[in-house]
Amino acid sequence: MSIVGIPRECTRALVALTPEGVDRLTARGFTCLVEERAGERAGFDYPSTVSRQELWEQADIVLTLDPATWPAPRPGTVLVGLLGESRPAAVDAFALERLPRISRAQSMDVLSTLGTAAGYRAALLATERCPRFFPMLTTAAGTVPPARVLVLGAGVAGLMAMATARRLGAVVTGYDIRPAAQDEIRSVGALVLTPPEVERPECDQMHACEQPEEVLSRQQQDLARAVAASHVVIGTAAVPGRPAPVLVTRAMVEGMQPGAVVVDLALGNCELTRAGEVYLHRGVHLLGLRDLPSQLPYSCSQMLARNLAAYLSLLAPGGTLNIPWEDELVSTCCVSRKEPHETRPENPLPGHDPGASADPIGLSAHLQP
Ligand code: NAD
Repeated sequence: MSIVGIPRECTRALVALTPEGVDRLTARGFTCLVEERAGERAGFDYPSTVSRQELWEQADIVLTLDPATWPAPRPGTVLVGLLGESRPAAVDAFALERLPRISRAQSMDVLSTLGTAAGYRAALLATERCPRFFPMLTTAAGTVPPARVLVLGAGVAGLMAMATARRLGAVVTGYDIRPAAQDEIRSVGALVLTPPEVERPECDQMHACEQPEEVLSRQQQDLARAVAASHVVIGTAAVPGRPAPVLVTRAMVEGMQPGAVVVDLALGNCELTRAGEVYLHRGVHLLGLRDLPSQLPYSCSQMLARNLAAYLSLLAPGGTLNIPWEDELVSTCCVSRKEPHETRPENPLPGHDPGASADPIGLSAHLQP
């Protein structure tokens, strides 16, 4: 039976396995070792914990959500979780951010979990910065019109941001290059801003293709009026493995009303975004925050723990490691093998450009020298 280690994450407030997850894995035959204070920032308490040294010496499998947490795993172990660009030596490592978005992998889809948390937080952060009420109010002091929110990109994070802003009472408009996204935008109660006609808007059901410059500039023209009329813009437009498309230019930001808010989740949808910073540009709040899931650590850890436990069932059915190497969910996620001769070649995401920044949530930032 395998021993699963859950370390205290280094920079993130999350934890890879909650106490409920520990119970579930224990019932499946695993032994779980949790590092001291691992759940402290997420609000979880574990009946028993071990030191980091004990965890390093005993765990066969380590679950982690931050590449900086377990930089030098014990040779021969298995590392599973959010690994960013990390390629640890002499271990079998599985980076779950590489999972294909197919129905069999839904329960393991860590990116959907992160997107859900980030989209929700983005809408809340916008309400905190926005100097207006989100809902329409009829009061003795007169009628207050609702805030207008524009969300760019209608994937997981975008739809969650739209739904949250709607629940808070704003008038929400959604925008996505994929025609299929229009029904999804309507389904969360938002209005649709129709994108320009383009030849190949989508690579598949879930992802847009990278668009040529001329399409992006047509998009910018269409968007200019909508951005100027919005009190909040939330940017979530992204193409896997590519830099985020710039949809909101400096001129558009300067055309927004003072007090307007731009939350750029994709860290690149707005020309003026500075990753990791919040600042004012001519009265407009620009938020380029990394790691929003750590601002919702309890719920996000619960969801991630279920994603990781589902993946673990694949690697260790019945509680003992028996990795099905030929399975596409395994081969796509595997970023290093413990046997040197078996080391996989670089396994880029679909359409990955090694020079491009494909890490808007800042996972690889922890690895910079
Ligand atoms: P997703 O792939 O589910 O959705 C992206 C959407 O953008 C897709 O619907 C796609 O069609 C759309 N899109 C692509 N190009 C477009 C264009 N030119 N115009 C309009 N729409 C376009 O991704 P997601 O899970 O929703 O995540 C969205 C972004 O948020 C990603 O960049 C992700 O890395 C980032 N994110 C940030 C944080 C954070 O803490 N800052 C956390 C989670 C996710």
